[in-house]
Amino acid sequence: MIEVTPDTACVLYLGIAMMIVLGMWLFRYKKHKTNAIPYAKRHIVCEFCHTSYIDNPEKLLTRCPECQFLNNKSNK
Ligand SMILES: [Zn+2]
Repeated sequence: MIEVTPDTACVLYLGIAMMIVLGMWLFRYKKHKTNAIPYAKRHIVCEFCHTSYIDNPEKLLTRCPECQFLNNKSNK
């Protein structure tokens, strides 16, 4: 049997706990980074009233919340 001093056990426990937390943080950070959309791509300026608003960038047509004008993203 391997003898482990209390100091070594404490260091091993904290090291393993830190590695688990770091691994979970890296996993969540990588997952969030791939799902995140840059602000510039979400930010849309209405061609009619020049109001800026945020909408889904995957939509081809977005509706302005102020004047209800349909803005075409492919023009930019
Ligand atoms: Zn508008």
